[in-house]
Amino acid sequence: MRAVRAVVTTGPGSVEVRDMPAPPRSDRAVVRVDQAGICGTDLKILAGSIPVEYPRVMGHEMVGEVVHGAPGGDIPAGSRVLINPATFCGRCDLCRRDLRHLCAAGGLLGRDVDGVFSEEIEIDEVFLHVIPAAVSRDAAAVLQVLATVVHAQRTVSVFPDETAAVIGLGVAGQLHAQLLASRGANVIGVTRSRWKRELAAGLGAGRTTTPDEAAEIVAEATGGRGADLVVESVGTEATLARAIELAAPAGHVLAFGTVTDGTGELPYYQLYFKELTVHSPRAAGPADYDAAIALTAGGRLHLEPLVTARFRLDDAAAAFAAVGGDNLKVVLDLSPAGQGAHA
Ligand SMILES: [Zn+2]
Ligand SMILES: [Zn+2]
Repeated sequence: MRAVRAVVTTGPGSVEVRDMPAPPRSDRAVVRVDQAGICGTDLKILAGSIPVEYPRVMGHEMVGEVVHGAPGGDIPAGSRVLINPATFCGRCDLCRRDLRHLCAAGGLLGRDVDGVFSEEIEIDEVFLHVIPAAVSRDAAAVLQVLATVVHAQRTVSVFPDETAAVIGLGVAGQLHAQLLASRGANVIGVTRSRWKRELAAGLGAGRTTTPDEAAEIVAEATGGRGADLVVESVGTEATLARAIELAAPAGHVLAFGTVTDGTGELPYYQLYFKELTVHSPRAAGPADYDAAIALTAGGRLHLEPLVTARFRLDDAAAAFAAVGGDNLKVVLDLSPAGQGAHA
C-alpha cells in the first residue's frame, strides 16, 4: 500500500514524522500539501493543553494542489487550493442559518480529526477554496489566518479616521493592522517587539508603541477619548484587560486572541462604565475565505513579510521549537525544492 509522510503527535510533548496509508481515490478530493503553517493552537495541542485523541495527525493551515478531483465536482486536478479546516455538516440548524463556522457537528482538522501536516489529504470538495495565480506562494501560506481576521472584522464597523489599537503584532495582529488601515482607520500597533513594530509601521500602522506607553499614545492620538476599537490579538487576560482600558466610552473590543487561562481579574467595571461592546469571533466561514483570497489577490494586503521561517516536514520538531519569539509564521515546506532547501 502506498504511504504518505505525516506529522503525528502520540502524546503530550511527543511528536514524530511517520508513514501513514495514502488516501484512497474516492468520491472526495485528494490534495497534495505544498506548505503548511504552524500556529499557537498546534503548540497547545502538542503540549497537551488542548486535549486530542492519540495518535493524531496535526495541522490546520495549508496550501496545496488537487491531485484527484472529486468525481462530478467543480475543482479539477491541478488547482491550487487551501482547505477550510473548520468542518461543518451543512444540515444542522446553525449551518442552515449560514453559521457553518459554529456547526455543532463540526470540528477542526488537526484537533478533532486528522489534520494537514501530511503529504496528502482526502477532503470533501466543499472545504476547498481555489487560490488564483496572483497570490504569491508566501502570501498563500498565510491566507487561512487572514480568513479568521476577515471573519473577526466583519463583526465591527470602522469609519474613516476612527482610531483602532491592535494589541499584539504576531501574524494575526499584523493582518488586523493592515486590514484596519485599508478600511480607513488610524491604526496604533502595540507590542514589546521593536522589529514587529517596525514591520507594522511599514504595512500601514500610523503609530506603534510598547504596551507600557500604549495608554499615553492612544490618549495623545484621540484627544484623551481612547480608541474607538481595540483588537486584542495575544490571548491573555492581561492583554484583554489592557484592551478594555484603552477603549473609548461606547467603544468596541474585539477579543481575537483566545484566553484559556483567566484569573478573573479583568477590569469588569469598565465594561459597564464605558458601555463597551465586546466581540468574540470564532473560526471563519466560506465567505471569509473567499474575501481573504480576493483581498490578497487584489494586492490590497501584503502577506509575504509574515512568513519568516521554513522547515522540511521531517524537521517538524525543530519547526515547532522555532514558533514564537522572533518568528512570525513558521511554515512546513513540503515542495520538492523545500525538501532540499533546509538543513
Ligand atoms: Zn491556526
Ligand atoms: Zn452543521
